[in-house]
Amino acid sequence: MSAKSRTRTPARELLFGNLWEYDPAPETSSPQLQDRYTLFINGKWTAPRTKKFFTSLSPRDGKPLADIALAGAADVNAAYQAATSAFPAWSKLPGAERGKYLYRIARLLQDRAREFAVAETLDGGKPIKESRDFDVPMAAAHFFYHAGWADKLDCAMPGKTLAPLGVVGQIIPWNFPLLMLAWKLAPALACGNTVVLKPAETTSITCLKFATILQEAGLPPGVVNFVTGAGETGAAVVNHPLAKKIAFTGSTAVGKGIQRALAGTGKKLTLELGGKAANIIFEDAAIDQAVEGIVNGIFFNQGHVCCAGSRLLVQESIASAVMQKLKIRLRSLRVGDPMDKNTDIGAIHSLKQWEKIDELVKAGVAEGAELYQPPCALPEDGYYYAPSIFTNVSLSHRIAREEIFGPVLSVLTFRTPEEAVEKANNTPYGLSAGVWTDKGSLAMKMAAELKAGVVWANTYNKFDPTSPFGGFKESGFGREGGKQGLLEYAELI
Ligand code: ADP
Repeated sequence: MSAKSRTRTPARELLFGNLWEYDPAPETSSPQLQDRYTLFINGKWTAPRTKKFFTSLSPRDGKPLADIALAGAADVNAAYQAATSAFPAWSKLPGAERGKYLYRIARLLQDRAREFAVAETLDGGKPIKESRDFDVPMAAAHFFYHAGWADKLDCAMPGKTLAPLGVVGQIIPWNFPLLMLAWKLAPALACGNTVVLKPAETTSITCLKFATILQEAGLPPGVVNFVTGAGETGAAVVNHPLAKKIAFTGSTAVGKGIQRALAGTGKKLTLELGGKAANIIFEDAAIDQAVEGIVNGIFFNQGHVCCAGSRLLVQESIASAVMQKLKIRLRSLRVGDPMDKNTDIGAIHSLKQWEKIDELVKAGVAEGAELYQPPCALPEDGYYYAPSIFTNVSLSHRIAREEIFGPVLSVLTFRTPEEAVEKANNTPYGLSAGVWTDKGSLAMKMAAELKAGVVWANTYNKFDPTSPFGGFKESGFGREGGKQGLLEYAELI
């Protein structure tokens, strides 16, 4: 390198630019996949009565991973029959005995943690460091936590007994397949319910692998049944007359349809739907920490997170400083192969999702917002999207109103806390929010005024099984996690 070019290279380029690059750090553990998975009904692998299968592709490279059974109405019915037959014995087991199964499940998942992390990353596209350090350990933590509740249900509500509901139907999305399974199964089983669960059609693999953990744990047949398929299978789960409760996590549109379908049936319902969270940075915040919180809030899991901090509200006095730091930070994010241990942003989950993100980004540009994407080389195969930040955004822009579910941040500014609250609450959603400030009193005031089920202060995307999670408005109702989440699976008598 000549002396001239050396003096022209800014320090950050030396640190983060093209001059230095990480060596590849590929994850090499085996995900132990089968070529084909049938349904898990009554403790047994069962061929679908439809005789149909579909292929699960890896968003990492677009290649097929496994064939998955397509469950029809007769298969869903068989699953409900099995869960109904299993209910009397399971619900009458002493809580301490049910707890032992849950502990066993948690331990077995820990034993096979790396295998599950690799399967999750291949199937869903999220970086291996996230599935390894977040999804799988958190899924195990939910089983441990609810194992602890199983023999203490009498203490949950003093003076009341928690009675199980019966068979519950559960439908989960593709963004945190194993973790959402744990959120749903663990409290249902702790309370003595039996379950028919449907994973998302694009991410069934860790659910089906999980069936082998249930078998290893010796869970009685029929207590948990897995049916795979898309919307039609989901509708059969929702509408089955033996279901006493439906728990759904997914899009607001489908959630509204489920609510309509269940009206007047007497079935209990919890819905965890979309979001458009505000991440609010006040001028007295620790800016470098806040920048890390912004990055985590929107780029974790490629932004495929219902509580993603997709609207950044930054106080006007510090807006240019925050944007400058944020842009520099973006240049150091590594986008690419999710199986590389150094990857920060992995593959977009599917071509359909990629097209949705791209359509909204184009709409943002067309509506006059200013787009920044750091220079980054994206892999040619698979579905990848550069981290994207929009400035000059107004509240009426589609990118400020619609859930993008991708690595796209819309930046707005505010002057006073009141304006921040008004802008943050100006959305049909109400799932989560973040507040960054040095003043505890301001954080508490904001938490009280923000219409969001979860408000994080000086952090973002922090989860714990003891802490209830759920939304207001079009983000749904009901809570998952904590005592509140447990109570969603019981009748108080
Ligand atoms: P997304 O748009 O994020 O894929 P969906 O709401 O379509 O979200 O999917 C979430 C889950 O709901 C998936 O398991 C999917 O198969 C299921 N699903 C889709 N349509 C229906 C429906 N009409 N009834 C029940 N479940 C459905």
